[in-house]
Amino acid sequence: MDLALTPEERAFQDEVRAFLDEALTPELRAAGRLATSVFMDPEYSLPWQRKLHAKGWVAPSWPAEYGGPGWSEMQRAIFAAECARAGAPSLPPQGLRMVGPCLMGYGTPEQKARYLPRMLSGEDFWCQGYSEPGSGSDLASLQMRADSDGDDYILNGSKIWTTHAQFANRMFCLVRTRFDGKPQAGITFLLLDMDIPGITIKPIITLAGDHEVNQVFFDDVRVPKSGRVGAENQGWTVAKYLLEFERGGGSAPGLKVQLGRLRDMAADEGADGGGRLIDDAAFRARLSAAEIAIEAIEMTELRVLAELSGGKNPGPASSMLKTAGTEAMQRIDELALDVAATYAAVDQPMARRPGANTPPVGPVHSLVAAARYLNNRAASIYGGSNEIQRDIMAKLVLGL
Ligand SMILES: Cc1cc2nc3c(=O)[nH]c(=O)nc-3n(C[C@H](O)[C@H](O)[C@H](O)COP(=O)(O)OP(=O)(O)OC[C@H]3O[C@@H](n4cnc5c(N)ncnc54)[C@H](O)[C@@H]3O)c2cc1C
Repeated sequence: MDLALTPEERAFQDEVRAFLDEALTPELRAAGRLATSVFMDPEYSLPWQRKLHAKGWVAPSWPAEYGGPGWSEMQRAIFAAECARAGAPSLPPQGLRMVGPCLMGYGTPEQKARYLPRMLSGEDFWCQGYSEPGSGSDLASLQMRADSDGDDYILNGSKIWTTHAQFANRMFCLVRTRFDGKPQAGITFLLLDMDIPGITIKPIITLAGDHEVNQVFFDDVRVPKSGRVGAENQGWTVAKYLLEFERGGGSAPGLKVQLGRLRDMAADEGADGGGRLIDDAAFRARLSAAEIAIEAIEMTELRVLAELSGGKNPGPASSMLKTAGTEAMQRIDELALDVAATYAAVDQPMARRPGANTPPVGPVHSLVAAARYLNNRAASIYGGSNEIQRDIMAKLVLGL
């Protein structure tokens, strides 16, 4: 694969760098650098989303007809790499990367016109209501019921692990509209407003101390049928299509930046006055192994990107990228714990505060190593656990 940039691509890279230099305030950069989760609080992600939206760069992979910038695959890769290098905050994925592309494939013209522009601008904040207390990996067993009542459905049941439901004004969810027959054939995909009476959100605080996920309860919640995506009982196809976008990669640029930071810090004298970690052969070997894994992910992401254009779905390659990307992320977290050494405390409020990355809070604190390590344990579970991704690859890629 020829990765050399053409003169036009170099000019584009310069344009992106110039924009990022100007648009990223120190607060936004610090928020990006100190984030302990891939899901960033809207306090930081939304100001950045608004700036990207004003520039027309908020949804690099969306087709131009829906508000994407119309970039080539290489331009998208350059943009992602430059954002990671500059420490830009991440954007909420549930709208832009998940239900947005899904609506382009399955939404009605009215749904596209109503929701896509508000997704780009950040006016709408989405959450994903797939999992239930008894239905995670075996998602098709979900039980939240939607009973038909004229032009509405009446919803009863509960969703769990709903990321950022506390911020969301909209949810896309899966409901059961038929209880007999094959479980997959009784599921409907529904869009709803989070302020409808009967919805209660209860926080779940994770081991890392974050309020990121929730349980959401539905008691006689009346949802208009106009929010249905696809036909009744055909939601399983829509749901699987969306999951390919959720799992669809794009992690290599960020992983490379994090690994580079670790390498630099390991070359410094130990934060606790110990020697240089980079001089330890076993540590160097682990660092190199992580680097090789990330290069392989980068090549695969570029290959998959080259096969996609105009909002196409990534197919089963998304399972491979999700598995490899999250495993590399967890490898980096383990290396970061070693680099941070005695400063890998579980909670570092000073280090988490944007703008506080000056002595006595030094660079090694900014690894927020333990908080990241704990939060990212979830990465091999959410979006479908890596064991399930391996099952999908065995079936759909290897044909076993
Ligand atoms: C931080 C976080 C955020 C999340 N955000 C959301 C969200 O916003 N919206 C949403 O709908 N869901 C969300 N989820 C839920 C997530 O999709 C589920 O946790 C995941 O699908 C696993 O389901 P489960 O937790 O019920 O585990 P289970 O399905 O009970 O699995 C338990 C273990 O058994 C393994 N296992 C299960 N079946 C098999 C099999 N057939 N073969 C091999 N191994 C198997 C699994 O890999 C796992 O290790 C989130 C989860 C987390 C942790």
